[in-house]
Amino acid sequence: MKPWTEKKAVLSALANEGVRVGERILPSGERLRGLYTTRDFAPGDWVASFSGRVISRAELFALHDADPALFALVNEYGVATKDGGHLYPPDPSALGGHLANHACGPNATMSGRWERGALLLQAERPISAGEEVTVHYHWTGVKAATEGRAPTPCACQSARCCGTIELALEAHEEKDADGGVTLALFLPPEEVENRIAADVVNAARANEATILQYARNAHLMFSRGEARRASWADEALLGRIADAVRAAAAAGLGRGAARSHARLAELVGRYL
Ligand SMILES: [Zn+2]
Repeated sequence: MKPWTEKKAVLSALANEGVRVGERILPSGERLRGLYTTRDFAPGDWVASFSGRVISRAELFALHDADPALFALVNEYGVATKDGGHLYPPDPSALGGHLANHACGPNATMSGRWERGALLLQAERPISAGEEVTVHYHWTGVKAATEGRAPTPCACQSARCCGTIELALEAHEEKDADGGVTLALFLPPEEVENRIAADVVNAARANEATILQYARNAHLMFSRGEARRASWADEALLGRIADAVRAAAAAGLGRGAARSHARLAELVGRYL
């Protein structure tokens, strides 16, 4: 893209000129608010921007008791910044990238590109005028599992939906040698298979990335004196993903659709 065209595209995304607030009706009859385009976007285009305030991790922990409403807002809408903080919209009803709903096979991504304090959303695939803009939330499921909550049901319209937004983890209490109790988290092989299958069918990378993120972060998860640990060493994780890739290939997933086929070939090349 020429520099001036690129600059105009960034300014347009910053102003959220190509999107509007919209909604769709879920099978349950509920209305789900979301972000919709008003024009076509090509892969790589800047679609919209997520602007707001940044709160540090320490400030967020303090909010838990001091301002539960704001704590809940940051949890619902916040996205992680590089330095461990969270960007959140002070007014969630305003138009912006924070309105993008989760999808198991999203058409856009929170790109990681910041401009004037805002995070830009980038199209991952062609998005037609009027279509809903979706991103993948990359929730690892640790929060839900440790709070004893069921994972959040997903209402996306991807070709293959995983059923839940966050990874469906299992949590078990385990006695330590010294008599203490540790909450151990498990990512079941069926869930890995479910996620990899979705990535193949949806021709997306988001679920694979979320599994890897879970593995990376799992050993860091300590909170309020309660030790938690993940059961997976990296090598075992890669083995489980390899099994899931084999299962997807054996089931014939990706056959017929060029993008899905390419995605499966990429996974085979990486893990088998
Ligand atoms: Zn879904």
